[in-house]
Amino acid sequence: MNRPAQPDFAVLGGGLCGRLVAWRLAGQGHRVALYERGDAAGSQAAAWVAAAMLAPLAEAASAELLITRLGASSLDAWPQVLAELPEPVFFQRNGTLVVWHHADRTEAPLFERRVRSNAPAELLDGGFVTLAGAQVGAAEPALAGRFNQGWLLPREGQLDNRQVLAALAAGLAQRGVETHWNTPVDEQSLPPACVTIDCRGLGAKPVLPTLRGIRGEVARVHAPGINLTRPVRLLHPRYPLYIAPKQNDLYVIGATEVEGEDMSPVSVRSALELLSAAFSVHPGFGEARILELNSQCRPTLPDHRPALLWDGAQTLRVNGLYRHGYMIAPEVADEAVRFAAALLDGRIGDADAFADWRRAARWSELFQQDCAREPA
Ligand SMILES: Cc1cc2nc3c(=O)[nH]c(=O)nc-3n(C[C@H](O)[C@H](O)[C@H](O)COP(=O)(O)OP(=O)(O)OC[C@H]3O[C@@H](n4cnc5c(N)ncnc54)[C@H](O)[C@@H]3O)c2cc1C
Repeated sequence: MNRPAQPDFAVLGGGLCGRLVAWRLAGQGHRVALYERGDAAGSQAAAWVAAAMLAPLAEAASAELLITRLGASSLDAWPQVLAELPEPVFFQRNGTLVVWHHADRTEAPLFERRVRSNAPAELLDGGFVTLAGAQVGAAEPALAGRFNQGWLLPREGQLDNRQVLAALAAGLAQRGVETHWNTPVDEQSLPPACVTIDCRGLGAKPVLPTLRGIRGEVARVHAPGINLTRPVRLLHPRYPLYIAPKQNDLYVIGATEVEGEDMSPVSVRSALELLSAAFSVHPGFGEARILELNSQCRPTLPDHRPALLWDGAQTLRVNGLYRHGYMIAPEVADEAVRFAAALLDGRIGDADAFADWRRAARWSELFQQDCAREPA
């Protein structure tokens, strides 16, 4: 039998969302083509630099309820996603430890108040444990005697971002997705497809003019012998600092938050702040070896929420995942896949059908009709 000339779906952008969406659609038997301006490793994506912490409660200090709920559901969904991928991915659900230095102690009640007012009761119940004195050391022996107080958020998780990207690339190949690495796509060179799913992150700015980048800088260090067992957050007056331990004594230390689409290398000031913070949590970081200093920009919409934007025709845009991409990707991608499949088989063709779909959707707040049309 002859296959149709064009694929069912063209996915633009093969960072985190693009890979996940393409892989899911291919798993449903659809014919999918994916176009990524960078390499198969994902080195041009924000997802390449991210710490990949899955911390809906800790993030509730600055994120609204929608994000917290998406994060909590996605945290439950990740193990199933990873189980279906053809390569192993480091995933841990061993909690987050939150600590602070005496000089920054005024940050603690602010953090607690924000988390308690933003997060749903069921997440807080048993999910936000106050630790005093020796309990910090009992929870995280590497930090014994170093902090007088802390909080353990025992249900939070993390994964290895680069292993996810690699495993998804392998999953795309396994499911027969037509991958076009090192292939930038713009509005003048859109590939043929019945439905287009734009997951270009900041690369979608020409069609989403209100999208902006928020720069983040991280350090990757090798620090044998410290043995942190879970991500540690250090309350800090300027931005939330964290040390996320991955496999083989690798630590991701991040992250700054600076307005602007500045992709230049990490500044001296940021490097000093990040590395000093790690050193102040554990002096063993003084002997760590710096493997990488990276900067990238988080794709962010004006309300700091993720969005599924329908153009009124055959294009869906998935964007605005800001600092929560890994934390919320399974739920956002699933919602995008359901909608895209409905576009393909003609169940959504006008504003009324869209409104009905939106009303019935699990995450209805994600949906928007994007009135910005592509240039003629
Ligand atoms: C420093 C930092 C730390 C972070 N830490 C965390 C964390 O701990 N937890 C968490 O949940 N999230 C974290 N994030 C956020 C997370 O990385 C993002 O939310 C996520 O990567 C967004 O996914 P995306 O697929 O929309 O965009 P991206 O991952 O950026 O992918 C977009 C892709 O589109 C491609 N592209 C762009 N333009 C074009 C074009 N014209 N043609 C073809 N391809 C194109 C890009 O090359 C890229 O691969 C962090 C981000 C940063 C920067």
